[in-house]
Amino acid sequence: MPDEPQGGPLGFPVVTAPPVSVAEATLRATEIAEAVARPLVDRTDSGVWPAEPLRALQEAGLGGLAAPRSLGGAGLGLGGVAAVGEALGRVCASTALCFGMHSVATAVIAAKPTDRQRADFLDAIVAGEHLTTLALSEPGTGAAFWLPQTRMTQAGTGMRIDGEKSFVTNGSHADSYVVSTVAADPDAPVGEFSCVLVPAGVGGMTWVDAWNGVGMRGNSSRRALLDGVLVGADHLLGAEGDQIWYVFEVVAPYFLMAMAGSYLGVAQASLDEATAHLTRRAHGHTGRRLATEPILQHRLGELWAQVERTRRLVYWAAEEGDAGGPKALLGLTAAKAEVAKCAVEVTNEAMTLVGGIGYRDRSPLERHLRDARAAEVMSPTTDILRTWTGRAALGLPLLGD
Ligand SMILES: Cc1cc2nc3c(=O)[nH]c(=O)nc-3n(C[C@H](O)[C@H](O)[C@H](O)COP(=O)(O)OP(=O)(O)OC[C@H]3O[C@@H](n4cnc5c(N)ncnc54)[C@H](O)[C@@H]3O)c2cc1C
Repeated sequence: MPDEPQGGPLGFPVVTAPPVSVAEATLRATEIAEAVARPLVDRTDSGVWPAEPLRALQEAGLGGLAAPRSLGGAGLGLGGVAAVGEALGRVCASTALCFGMHSVATAVIAAKPTDRQRADFLDAIVAGEHLTTLALSEPGTGAAFWLPQTRMTQAGTGMRIDGEKSFVTNGSHADSYVVSTVAADPDAPVGEFSCVLVPAGVGGMTWVDAWNGVGMRGNSSRRALLDGVLVGADHLLGAEGDQIWYVFEVVAPYFLMAMAGSYLGVAQASLDEATAHLTRRAHGHTGRRLATEPILQHRLGELWAQVERTRRLVYWAAEEGDAGGPKALLGLTAAKAEVAKCAVEVTNEAMTLVGGIGYRDRSPLERHLRDARAAEVMSPTTDILRTWTGRAALGLPLLGD
């Protein structure tokens, strides 16, 4: 007889098996977003990291969403990551980002794991018992996240890491960090770097400055100092210096789809707010609902089309990326840039349609607008992505002159 699902600490049924389809993953994420994340939205927006919805997502078998089935994950690829991001982003963008960064880091770890990395990290990730995240950005190189200055040097049989990371989402809460460093091999060409798995709580890793963003307030995107952090040589991901492969084959596609999905969710939530308001609001002097005004119908129609055409670009890009299609790079780079524009423009316009009621402090649209603004500046930023899309269309490599 199959085991009955057990209740988790949050009372949510524990589903150990990963979802078998994107539709099933989306349904599980939607249920958790509504039941667990929504009641906590104000608390999360006040700066509290959303532990409960993240835990519930892990308990629901989504911890290994981005890991292949051969390694025990759901194997739902870029399409799965985008769809779950959208489902969460509709309710709470911070939760979507925190879970998205876990999924991107999972995809990086799962790309070329050693047996030891599988046993020490990946098995726990797919079992929903380990949260990971990406620590690439640095104060020195900012949006150029592919150019770390953090150094990794040989220390006995292991590695020593010294440097500084900025904006580490899930910072101080994750169980491990995928940290980029200058290639350990001194002969490696400039620009090549290595990625190393740093478990939480290692000596020499200190968290500084609480996260205090305009929006995305719950995601704990903090600065970390790495001062003589020691890890075993078996914590190195892939071969030394082959991380340009990771950046363009794994980090960028998964990151772009996780972010595109999350901020698409914000755009849809704003559109829903505007639609509900126009449907509900009636003036006392005319007795007519705003939904009957042709100019407002026209404006809402434009927003609907903007969200829908952006959604189609996102899911087409994910499909092309998962299939390794020839237009994958164009689609993925264009999609996140288009979502960022869509999320900001649609939320801004929705606020106009909801009038003074929408403009009130602490209205849902106020939160969505603050959250949406992060989409433009999270690297690859919109400016960088537009250039990359142009270069890809011209058949030029993304980086270089
Ligand atoms: C909410 C949030 C969460 C984040 N989470 C993570 C995370 O989990 N992990 C992580 O590693 N990082 C994360 N980041 C960091 C992010 O990806 C960027 O690295 C960071 O925002 C860069 O900030 P900066 O001020 O140093 O940018 P700068 O590099 O100073 O850039 C400032 C502006 O100049 C533009 N610019 C810079 N270089 C170029 C160029 N070559 N071409 C065109 N325009 C350019 C940028 O687009 C930007 O508009 C996060 C950031 C935010 C806001």
